[in-house]
Amino acid sequence: MPNPTSPLVRQVGLPAARCASCGLVVWPASLSRCPRCAGDTEPAEVDGDGVVWSHTVQRFAPKSPPYRPAAPGHQPFAVVYVETADGIRVEGILDGVDPAAVRIGQPVRLVSTDDVPRYRPRETEPS
Ligand SMILES: [Zn+2]
Repeated sequence: MPNPTSPLVRQVGLPAARCASCGLVVWPASLSRCPRCAGDTEPAEVDGDGVVWSHTVQRFAPKSPPYRPAAPGHQPFAVVYVETADGIRVEGILDGVDPAAVRIGQPVRLVSTDDVPRYRPRETEPS
């Protein structure tokens, strides 16, 4: 099993949108109008990494969609809002952690956008 905090965990881009007029990054990408200037948006892949802005623990099996059908023996998992460098906040699932140990400000890396955004913990850069 790969080390979930390894910097070698594959980073993926977030399929967001960008305002063609003012450049604001918009999430979700389905927003066709910019919330700042009402300009048109166009698809843009942006850096999905960020820090935990808020979090909770999903203690019961969620309905599907958007989540995968629940397997028997649901295990609690961490649901996070991640704030990216572009200032958007993305709801996703944080894998590879004890859900009770998630902290606001924790750096995370986007590793999948196949269903819902999925994150892994990211080590802080040595200073
Ligand atoms: Zn705009």
